[in-house]
Amino acid sequence: AGSAGDTAPSSGSGTDPAAVDDRMVIAENVHKHFGRLEVLRGIDLEVRRGEVMCVIGPSGSGKSTFLRCINHLEKVDGGRLWVNGQLMGYRQKRGKLYELHDAQVAEQRRGIGMVFQSFNLFPHMSVIGNIMEAPVQVKREKRAAAREKAMRLLERVGLAEKASSYPRQLSGGQQQRVAIARALAMEPDLMLFDEPTSALDPELVGEVLAVMKGLAEDGMTMVVVTHEMGFAREVGDSLVFMDDGVVVESGPPREVLADPREERTQAFLSRVL
Ligand code: ADP
Ligand code: MG
Repeated sequence: AGSAGDTAPSSGSGTDPAAVDDRMVIAENVHKHFGRLEVLRGIDLEVRRGEVMCVIGPSGSGKSTFLRCINHLEKVDGGRLWVNGQLMGYRQKRGKLYELHDAQVAEQRRGIGMVFQSFNLFPHMSVIGNIMEAPVQVKREKRAAAREKAMRLLERVGLAEKASSYPRQLSGGQQQRVAIARALAMEPDLMLFDEPTSALDPELVGEVLAVMKGLAEDGMTMVVVTHEMGFAREVGDSLVFMDDGVVVESGPPREVLADPREERTQAFLSRVL
């Protein structure tokens, strides 16, 4: 059962956190379990507009589950998640909370782009077809306008010449750049990346990180689960270390990486750095 009550928690100033402020994501005491396995055990964090938050932690610590909770691919069992002023999965009306239907959740999710480790492009569609699909089918954009936007996005990720190629004709790095363009085509306010370079051959990692860095420089709000500590240090505004379903430590990336306060962070970093 969800723990959403009928009053919104205060944001400190006594105002409703759903009111639009400079926080893009607010996670409050987020819990998630699968059967008896407690995967998230009270996650609290905030992502400001324009912030790039990198999330690191051992395998199985709940990083992917947390990302999936942010866009409500997983329903939280306790706590609350706001994205861009909206309480995910619920609608507030006269101080009461109503659970949203799937279609309404899908609508909320539309403002959130997600990029996965496995690129998940539609194999039977051309590159430009992949990028146009959701804007045309979901947003009902005109094909000509969607095509124009897709071309601009392909230029942005450096793949304009691949517009009519099929995913199987591209390298992993190129496919992942297309996947990023496809997510951007829905004009998201927030981008979630779940280990976007982990499936890539080492020589292809850089081109994907470069696209992500460009996106960050353009002001996109991003939550990035990654093992790329160089990216976290250089591009991240904040770094979160998760272990065993909790945020163990967070702070400016350089501080967390160079001088971790917590023993668990130190142990993890000594294994990966
Ligand atoms: P991470 O991304 O940090 O490696 P995950 O969020 O993928 O961690 O997984 C955390 C834990 O939750 C793991 O033990 C995993 O096996 C479990 N888990 C994830 N998704 C499910 C699911 N749909 N059903 C059951 N267990 C799951
Ligand atoms: Mg994961």
